[in-house]
Amino acid sequence: MSKKTRLALLLAASLLLNLRPPPVAAQATGPHYVVQAGDTFYDIARQFGLSMAALQRANPGVNAEILSVGQTLVVPGFAGVTGALGAHVLEPGESLDSLALRLGLKRETLIRLNRVVNPELLFVGESVVVVDQLDGGTTIPTGRTYLTQAGKGWLSLAAAHNQNPWALAALNRRQHPGWLIPGQSVVAPGGDQPTTALPFPLVALEARPFPVEQGHTVSIHVVTAHPTTLSGSLGDWPLRFNVEAENSQYALLGVYRLAEPDLYRLTLEARDGNRRVRFSQPLPVRGGSYAVDPPLKVDPATIDPAVIQPEFEQIKSIVAPVTPARHWQGVFQLPSVGALRSVFGALRSYNGGPYDTFHTGADFSGAEDRPITAPAPGSVVFTGALTVRGNATVIDHGWGVYTGYWHQSSVQVQTGQRVETGQIIGYQGATGRATGPHLHWELWVGGFQVDPLQWTQVEFP
Ligand SMILES: [Zn+2]
Repeated sequence: MSKKTRLALLLAASLLLNLRPPPVAAQATGPHYVVQAGDTFYDIARQFGLSMAALQRANPGVNAEILSVGQTLVVPGFAGVTGALGAHVLEPGESLDSLALRLGLKRETLIRLNRVVNPELLFVGESVVVVDQLDGGTTIPTGRTYLTQAGKGWLSLAAAHNQNPWALAALNRRQHPGWLIPGQSVVAPGGDQPTTALPFPLVALEARPFPVEQGHTVSIHVVTAHPTTLSGSLGDWPLRFNVEAENSQYALLGVYRLAEPDLYRLTLEARDGNRRVRFSQPLPVRGGSYAVDPPLKVDPATIDPAVIQPEFEQIKSIVAPVTPARHWQGVFQLPSVGALRSVFGALRSYNGGPYDTFHTGADFSGAEDRPITAPAPGSVVFTGALTVRGNATVIDHGWGVYTGYWHQSSVQVQTGQRVETGQIIGYQGATGRATGPHLHWELWVGGFQVDPLQWTQVEFP
């Protein structure tokens, strides 16, 4: 047999293997799961809150080690549910209500499938079990979402939006139109937006990059149906929205490096005229993978709070204003050609004290007088000699984004001057609290120091 023929036969055999229909379990109409590429038996069991043994018992003929794509597994423990089970990752602006509406499911079915105690606590990024009920023909409702108010029933809601109350109830799959919980979302037909939990005039919401990480920047993008005044917060941190286009606004938030990894409530408020709507949803903040520096020994005078604190407050007040114009476009450039000596975020302990501080920027090593260049366009808002930071420069890039350059041998720009990417703004040195010539580069977003290197990789907003 020639090499070519052997290859053809082998190919045919492998095609035959792939085309073999997947083994179908006996109760394919009961709750089941169709294996997807990359799935493992363990992942599937975990997704449905089962032990591997329980999933194996429900599928006695199945070899857990060898799953094939398209194979059907019986999922036990969901009595009364029929159809193929799957997973949906909850996105910003989605709730169990809006998901149920979009998938044509009863809210109660989703609650039961996910063993949800309080639907209000479902967070962005959470994997939700959903079911394709095989009844087909359900039209995906599109329209505006309204939040119900206390004391207002279907009739007043329908009257307010010029809708037929029975059509409204049917669209929202409520059997008892009189029964409404304040704050629940109700979809009214009209518009071409997919159903979300976002109340009109909020249309879309995005948090990027996701998951949100301590010491990193997150961009919250909100699209509205018409120009609207937006405000909001993540936990206790205020969000300041900047208008990018008529109906598109961004808030950039620097997540504090020492923020507790936890669920934080993302709250948005839209105001137009005297109408005001609120939307809120839990958003997880993940811990970053930061190093712990070996304990540092320094001259006690250099960590004296009486010296450090006023200088820190001075910088904080310089970087507090949010300039409405955005000066940059795309990613930031590195401000030095020097080697990266120390990254942002490493935990630090001075003179045997607790590990309660962190490295607030990125350090570039290099010879004295190596040039420092602007990483992005901006406007110089501070130059001066400081006790800890030495010869320092701060650039405002707009939208509450600032960069700082410490320990310079000389500063080459003046306050009020506009700088462009790559322009020399000073030279590296060892002024202030520095053990040798280097550049300490810092980036502030919304009043917090964050990892500047993220800005050289991720395009904001
Ligand atoms: Zn440093």
